[in-house]
Amino acid sequence: MDSERLLYDISELNHLFRDSASVETLLNKGVDMVAERTGAAVCSIYLYNPEKRELTLRATHGLNPESVGRVRLKLGRGLTGQALQEMRTICVSDASRSPNYQFFPGIFEERYDAFLAVPIARGLSKMGVLVLQRDSDHCFSPPDIKALETVASQLGNIIENAQFIMGIHEPPEEPAKAIPSGLKFIKGKKAAEGFAYAPAMVLDKQKSLTLLVHHDDSKKYTLEDFHHAVARTESQLEQLQEQVEHKLSDAASLIFAAHLMILKDRDFTGKIVGKIEAGVNAPEAVAEVATGYMRNFLASDSGYMREKANDIEDLAIRLVNNLVSRDDDVEAHRDHIIITRVLFPSDLLKLSSEGVSAIILVGGGATSHISILARSLAMPMVIADTFDLLKVPDGTPLLVDAEMGNVFVDPDDEVVEKFWVRQRARLTLDDQKKLMKPATTTADGVRVQLMANINLLTDLKVATELNCDGVGLYRTEFPFIVRTNFPSEAEQYVIYRKLVESMPDKPVTFRTLDAGGDKILSYYHDIKEQNPALGMRSIRFSLQNKSIFAEQVRAILRAGAGANLRIMFPMISSLDEFHEAREVVRESIDQLAQQGIEHNAKPKLGMMVELPAVVDLAEDFAREADFFSIGTNDLIQFLLAVDRTNEAVADFYQPHHPSVLRTLNRIARAALENDCDLSICGDMAHQTQYTPFLLGIGVRMFSVDPIFLLRTQQAIAATSIKDAEALAKTMLSKSRVSDIVALLPTQTTPTSQ
Ligand code: PEP
Ligand code: MG
Repeated sequence: MDSERLLYDISELNHLFRDSASVETLLNKGVDMVAERTGAAVCSIYLYNPEKRELTLRATHGLNPESVGRVRLKLGRGLTGQALQEMRTICVSDASRSPNYQFFPGIFEERYDAFLAVPIARGLSKMGVLVLQRDSDHCFSPPDIKALETVASQLGNIIENAQFIMGIHEPPEEPAKAIPSGLKFIKGKKAAEGFAYAPAMVLDKQKSLTLLVHHDDSKKYTLEDFHHAVARTESQLEQLQEQVEHKLSDAASLIFAAHLMILKDRDFTGKIVGKIEAGVNAPEAVAEVATGYMRNFLASDSGYMREKANDIEDLAIRLVNNLVSRDDDVEAHRDHIIITRVLFPSDLLKLSSEGVSAIILVGGGATSHISILARSLAMPMVIADTFDLLKVPDGTPLLVDAEMGNVFVDPDDEVVEKFWVRQRARLTLDDQKKLMKPATTTADGVRVQLMANINLLTDLKVATELNCDGVGLYRTEFPFIVRTNFPSEAEQYVIYRKLVESMPDKPVTFRTLDAGGDKILSYYHDIKEQNPALGMRSIRFSLQNKSIFAEQVRAILRAGAGANLRIMFPMISSLDEFHEAREVVRESIDQLAQQGIEHNAKPKLGMMVELPAVVDLAEDFAREADFFSIGTNDLIQFLLAVDRTNEAVADFYQPHHPSVLRTLNRIARAALENDCDLSICGDMAHQTQYTPFLLGIGVRMFSVDPIFLLRTQQAIAATSIKDAEALAKTMLSKSRVSDIVALLPTQTTPTSQ
C-alpha cells in the first residue's frame, strides 16, 4: 500500500470539498482514491445516523453501485456495525465465515473475504465506517490497518461536513405525527433552573430548511417574490436587533447584525438572483446558494467559521419562510419549549429574545458557559440523552421541570396541576424583596457580606432589587463569548460602567477574562486542544495576549473611577503569574495617569483560588493579594480530576469530599491569618447544605447568582457561628466521604417564614 501518497490524497479531499459539486462526488472520489492506493478490490463508506442507530452505505468502489443508499445495517449488526459499536478496527481473512457476517443479496461482496473495517469518529461521536475488502488470498497486514486508521481519522472531519450538507438534499421527511411510544417521562440533567409548560417545537434547522424549500413544489416563485422576502426579512431582523439590544446591551450587539450583513452582501443575493433568472425556483435558489456558503464555512477547521455557517442557515430559513408563507410572525418560537441537538451561545440569546419558554438540549453535553448563560437569561434548560425527543411532533404539550431535570411528554392533568401548585408557591421577585433582610447576619448576630455573581447585565435587576452587598464576581467573558470579535476598550468601558453605576458605593469585583477551556471564543480558539480545561486559557491566555489584556484592564480601571473597585485574576497558579498580571494593572494605571484619563488608581487586586497549585503557597499568596475569592467549581474539578461538564462523572464531583473540605479550610486559614480578604464565589456558596461548614471555617463573604440571594441569606440566618464551628471541626476530622455525607444538613429552598 502506498500509504504516504494515500494520506496526501486524503488531505487533498478537504480542498476538493470546497469545490465539489456534490457530496456524493466527494465520497465517490474518496473511495476510489483509497481503493486505488491500497490495491483493495472494494472500498466503501457507510455513514451513521445516531437517531436511527443505523449505518447506510453511501459510496462504494467495487460493490454493486445500486446498493448505495439501500444497504442499511443496525449498529452492532454485521462486521461493519460491530466495528462501529465497539469502536474498534475489525480485520478478518474469512468474513463470510465470521459469526457476525451479514449477507446482502445482490451487492456482490461474497467474492471478497479479506475484510477490514475501521470506525470513523469525531471525538466520541460515531460517524461511520470505512471498509476495505479483497479476495482471501490477500489478507490485510498491520501496516494496512495502521494506514487505514489514519485515513479514517482524517475522513471524520470531512464526513462530518458532508453529512451536514447531504441532509439538505435529502427528500424531506414527513413531520412527526405521533409521540414515539413509551416516551412519557425523561430524567435529564438540569442546566438552568425553572419550570415551563408549553407546546414542543423541535428545532432541526436542516430539516426546517428542506421542508420549507419543498413546501409546495408546484408553486413557482418569481424574482419579485424574492425581493419582497428580502425586504420583509430585513425589517424583521432590524426589529429583532433592536429588541435584543434593548434587553441585552452587553451581550447581543451583533447577534442579528451578522444576519443583516449577509443579507446585504451583494455576492450572496446576487448569486440567488442569478439562479432565479436561470429558472431555478426561488426557495431552491436560496437554499442552494446558502448551502454553498455553508459548505465553504464548514470546510474550515475554525469554530468561528462553523458558527458563521449557523448564521447562514438561520438566515436562509428566515428568507425561505418569508418567501413561502404569508405568516408575519417573526417570533415563531415564542412560548414554545424548544428541543434541539445543537445550541450555540448566539442561539440561546436569539431564542431568549424571541420569548422561548424552555430549552431541552438533546445528546450534546452543554459547556458550562451555556448553562451559566441560560441561568442569566432565566431560561429553564434541561439536558437529556433521549434522542426520541427529537421525534416529538411539534405542538405536543411538554412540561419541563428544570429544577429536577425532568421532562414530561403530554403529561396528564394531575401532573400538570401538581406543577402549577408548586409554581404558585414559588416566590416572585416582589415576594423575595419583602423577605430579604437589609443586612445578612448569622443566628448569633455576626454580619456576613452577601454579594452577587453577575454574568450578564440583566442579572443586575434582581441583584439591585434584592439589595445585595455588592458584586463578588463579574464574569467578564460573556461579552467576549457572544461577539464575533474581541470587544474594543470603548465597548467594554460602556458595559463595565453600567455595572459600576448600578452598585454605587458597593464593592464591584471584576474578574479579568477567563476565556478558553469550555468558554471558547469562536473567533480566536481555532486550534483544537486535546485537553482544553488544561490548555491555553484564562490568565495564561491574557498574559500571552498582553495587548488584549491591557485593553481590558484599562476599560475596567476607567469604568471603576470613583468606585469601590476590585480586580481579580482567574486561574492563578504561581506567584510569578500573579506578579505579571499585577504589573499589567500597574502599567495601565501609570499610562492612564500620563494620558490624563479619569480612572481608579487604587483598585484592590486579588485572585481566584481555584487551582490545587495555590494551596501549598496559600500563605505566600495571601501576603501578596488583597483578597482571595474561592472558585469551588474549578477547584473541585482539578482537585478530584472530575470534568465539571461531564455528566457521566457527575457523581464523582463531590464538594463534600474530605480533601475539598480540608483544602477550603487551609485556604481560609491562610487568608484570615494574613489579613487577606476572603470570599467564596463558586456554586458551593449557594448550596445551602454547605453554608454551616463555610461559616465554620471563617468565610464571611458569599457571592452567589442573584436568584440564590434569598436562600443563602436565610441559610446564614439559620446558623450560629458556634454551631457552625463545631460542625466544621467534626467534618474536617473525617476522612471518608460517607462519614461526611452523614453530617451534611439538608439543602434548603427559600421560605416565606
Ligand atoms: C469557579 O471556578 O468556581 C468560578 C466561580 O468560576 P467559573 O465558574 O466562571 O469557572
Ligand atoms: Mg473558574
